[in-house]
Amino acid sequence: MPEGHTIHRLAARHAELFAGDKPQVSSPQGRFAEGAALISGAVLERTEAYGKHLLHHYAGELTLHVHLGLYGKFADGAGEPPAPVGQVRLRLTTDRHWLDLRGPTACELFTPPEVDALRARLGPDPLRADADPARAFDRIRRSATPLAALLLDQSVVAGTGLIFVTEALFRAGLPPLRPGRELTPDGWRTLWADLVELMTVAVERGRIDTVRPDHLPEAMGRAPRIDRHGGEVYVYRRPGQPCHVCGAPVARGELGGRNLYWCAGCQAG
Ligand SMILES: [Zn+2]
Repeated sequence: MPEGHTIHRLAARHAELFAGDKPQVSSPQGRFAEGAALISGAVLERTEAYGKHLLHHYAGELTLHVHLGLYGKFADGAGEPPAPVGQVRLRLTTDRHWLDLRGPTACELFTPPEVDALRARLGPDPLRADADPARAFDRIRRSATPLAALLLDQSVVAGTGLIFVTEALFRAGLPPLRPGRELTPDGWRTLWADLVELMTVAVERGRIDTVRPDHLPEAMGRAPRIDRHGGEVYVYRRPGQPCHVCGAPVARGELGGRNLYWCAGCQAG
């Protein structure tokens, strides 16, 4: 599933293509035909990302809400749109640009109270200027749940996925299974600041890089990582390989059906 930086990049891209315009909105596949008709021709005032949720705010207080889930994908281009291929749930067009959405988990219209309800059920998003990290720490410090599970819970922190969480815990030297209530206020300040930094860089680059300059392939004389997710990382999907910092083999475990990765040497806490 795309992590928050991807959704923030999409929000910026969609604003670049359509903000201030009156796109024609349709649903070639038909599943979003009624909603599309309600916003078609209205001014798209602005777009925003909140965690893994994308919002297009239209004049008339209607908001398009999209969650890509595992399979959702956007495509866009200049000029005339291509003939719809496959299940195009949503299509936006102007004289200059087109945008298609396929396979999302959610593509629906929200009223202002529904937008508020979405914001209320999400934790602070490290990529948003209005994020309040104290809200997240209030949940974490009362909980016996492992730190990794808390940071993956979108109602605690929004936008973080497995890569950001495993890598930020490595960089903080914290074991992923440590109970939230054992995290100190200083530990949280450091972890939050690091999430903000890692995610901001990922928005700029369009990929997740988490290794410090000393541990880059050039600095260490090692081969670059080859992975379809791209990016240089410390532990994510590197089980059994030597830790870039201490050389110990990277450990893998499971948490709620998901893989976890960490270095027992560096993350002894
Ligand atoms: Zn290590």
